Amino acid sequence: MSKNLTTRSEDYSKWYNELVVKADLAENSGVRGCMVIKPYGYAIWEKMQAELDRMFKETGHQNAYFPLFVPKSMFEAEEKNAEGFAKECAIVTHYRLKTDPDKAGKLIVDPNAKLEEELIVRPTSEAIIWSTYKGWVQSYRDLPLLINQWANVVRWEMRTRLFLRTAEFLWQEGHTAHATKQEAIEESEKMMNVYADFVENFMAIPVVKGLKTETERFAGADETYCIEALMQDGKALQAGTSHFLGQNFAKAFDVKFANAEGKQEYVWGTSWGVSTRLMGALVMTHSDDQGLVLPPNLAPIQVVIVPIYKTEEQFQAITTSVNELVKELRKLRISVKYDDRTTQKPGFKFAEWELKGVPVRIAVGPKDLENGTFEVARRDTLTKEVVANEGISVYINDLLQQIQESLFNKALDYRNTHITEVNSFEEFKDVLENKGGFVSAHWDGSAATEEKIKDLTKATIRCLPLEGVVEPGTCVFTGKPSSRRVFFAKAY
Ligand code: AMP
Repeated sequence: MSKNLTTRSEDYSKWYNELVVKADLAENSGVRGCMVIKPYGYAIWEKMQAELDRMFKETGHQNAYFPLFVPKSMFEAEEKNAEGFAKECAIVTHYRLKTDPDKAGKLIVDPNAKLEEELIVRPTSEAIIWSTYKGWVQSYRDLPLLINQWANVVRWEMRTRLFLRTAEFLWQEGHTAHATKQEAIEESEKMMNVYADFVENFMAIPVVKGLKTETERFAGADETYCIEALMQDGKALQAGTSHFLGQNFAKAFDVKFANAEGKQEYVWGTSWGVSTRLMGALVMTHSDDQGLVLPPNLAPIQVVIVPIYKTEEQFQAITTSVNELVKELRKLRISVKYDDRTTQKPGFKFAEWELKGVPVRIAVGPKDLENGTFEVARRDTLTKEVVANEGISVYINDLLQQIQESLFNKALDYRNTHITEVNSFEEFKDVLENKGGFVSAHWDGSAATEEKIKDLTKATIRCLPLEGVVEPGTCVFTGKPSSRRVFFAKAY
């Protein structure tokens, strides 16, 4: 099979787009900005969902489902949130089409079917959920509410990219309500940590945990916590966000509870989400010029076995031996595929599974049968080894764990060598242009400076990192006092 992938060094962006399509993850659709997620891509997303869902439930959350549409009056109740999302809303104004009297076979919007109130296709669900919570919360005994929904949302993005930024995307959104400020802050921090744990340990992508600046904060939140990852081209990607909403939505939707003393108080809220953007992070972090590289935890197929034979007799003998191996591997809950297609040559199969990022490939030929061995190839390092039949399933199991760790360590190494402290604006621009990654710099804390730096360099403040030393200094741009360094980067 011919891969003909553009290489990363030729054109990183093109490499990404081609890879997503050629590896069968997703493709553009007939609808502007909206993608089709193909079965192989969806299988990876399902693995992410299953693990996240498990983690949410382990931390006390339950799933529920709320409507896709939000009446405009409800949408505008929390002003900042409404204003923040207003520019990217899809709006339903009519509920019926009719045949065009002037053009046979064509439909037009029926002017008599205009909605009394427009419906907003949810870009996020705080409004609909908080309007519902009003009916669910009366007393402190009703709190906390710990709810998550798996859903699609629509944000009318102008510049879209498969997975990274689409007009419709899949995500989960947690929405919680609490009796105290402290508890709500703890919840938002907890969920940021759940995301970090998932992205690092399951997806093998190291992240920086931090706080957003006011400019970058979620519209309607008092504080936005985030996890930021670094892609192989030195650009950052926001991988997840968790918002402390204060009492903003409780006030907008009049959600009050009677506390233990019988006094009425507004509820405190959080919301948090990760989306199909994580699929883009996965591709951009680990993959190479040969194709996808999947961490074993997320690979729909962890091991592929390819028979190499000339005669039907050899094929039969290999298949008998492989069937045993498949059984053993499945006992260890390893997902394995025997690629016994007779329509393709081994070389084609090798290239295809390499492109699709299967972590381990086992090849078996007549010589291996004679010697009691298998040829085991790692996708991440593209290395091969001959391994004895005896104890091979345990060997493969260990190897999968090793690959998972090694992918994380490789990404961590890259990330760590791409955090650069700078002390002047010249240095700032130089690092951004010639090295990329996170630029750790002092900033005077003003939105105006943040904006000017963005205009001049395209770099945004990704976060105020929560880990590491916090020391005062002087702003790289204005020379004014700065309370701490922040991480700037160009970002997706
Ligand atoms: P937000 O509600 O803006 O905090 O976003 C929640 C999550 O969705 C974050 O992890 C974002 O990075 C992600 N996200 C935001 N916009 C898009 C988009 N257009 N396509 C895919 N993911 C997105």
